[in-house]
Amino acid sequence: MKAIKVPEPFKIVIEEVEEPQVKSAFDVKIKVTSGGICGSDIGIWNGTNSLATYPRVIGHEFGGIVTQVGSGVKRVSVGDRVAVDPVVSCGQCYACKIGRHNVCSALEVMGVHRDGGFCEYVCVPEENVHRFKADFDEKMLSVAEPFTIGVQINTRAQIQKGEKVLIMGAGPIGIAAMQVAKMNGAEVIMSDLVESRLEKAKMMGADRVVLIPTQNLEKELVDFTDGEGIPVIIDTVCIPASFQQSVELACPAGRVVVIGLKSQPSEIVMAEITKKELTIVGSRLNCNCFDKVIEGLESGSLKPDKYVTHMFSYEQVEQAFETIRTHPQDVLKAVITF
Ligand SMILES: [Zn+2]
Ligand SMILES: [Zn+2]
Repeated sequence: MKAIKVPEPFKIVIEEVEEPQVKSAFDVKIKVTSGGICGSDIGIWNGTNSLATYPRVIGHEFGGIVTQVGSGVKRVSVGDRVAVDPVVSCGQCYACKIGRHNVCSALEVMGVHRDGGFCEYVCVPEENVHRFKADFDEKMLSVAEPFTIGVQINTRAQIQKGEKVLIMGAGPIGIAAMQVAKMNGAEVIMSDLVESRLEKAKMMGADRVVLIPTQNLEKELVDFTDGEGIPVIIDTVCIPASFQQSVELACPAGRVVVIGLKSQPSEIVMAEITKKELTIVGSRLNCNCFDKVIEGLESGSLKPDKYVTHMFSYEQVEQAFETIRTHPQDVLKAVITF
């Protein structure tokens, strides 16, 4: 079968590899129909993803149609349309034992630490497989994963109905987090440096947008919250300055969620956290969020059609990566079809 491989940074090839086989009673074999390209795939390609090793079959956002199941598989059967949760955990460490396997001390992500889903067939454990209704567009199955990131962020932020939320950054993660927050009944204001991204954000459901630096974020937040200050901030920009600003802008008893993986330190004023008794949390990958996302996608509260801006066949993978490299502002989510 064909697989999309990054043998070393700045190289991407379509290679003939051995087709995986169902080995355990709980294996599910899937014919991949849809794979989403994520920032971390770009990072593996351009050598900036510190977690990746080479050569690597990339792709952690993927889904397809079940073609074979092991004798013990109960939740899915042949012909089902499914999305795959790429998180693989040990089940033994502290995080796993308290139900937070997404930060397992021995965590592996398909497509990053081990081979992923940009290939014709995968074999994965049943527990990683999540079923859609029969008529869901097979080219869109991979969008479940980025939306699980949005659900995880909302869970970590404990976003409640009627709450006001600031999301910094209108990229794919910011938009997914916004749509989930809207599904949860929150009111969302989004900020970004790029006007076209904010236009898309509004089209996809953001209540208000703030163009930086043309508009003053602090003033807009005062207006948005009737002088109260913003209680929930999700920082998807993830630079030291945005983290600092989040801590400054959050109102007393507020929550700040960070998702950055950069190692640069940030100078946070301790007194801001103490005086306002802020809750600052990280959010990584997803923890059992697929079923909620699938429900949202099937009911129409999450809208993947506007989210996917580009589609390429797997033979065009180089072109897809080039398009993202040269037009990063235009591509919200590119999907590769197999
Ligand atoms: Zn991703
Ligand atoms: Zn573990």
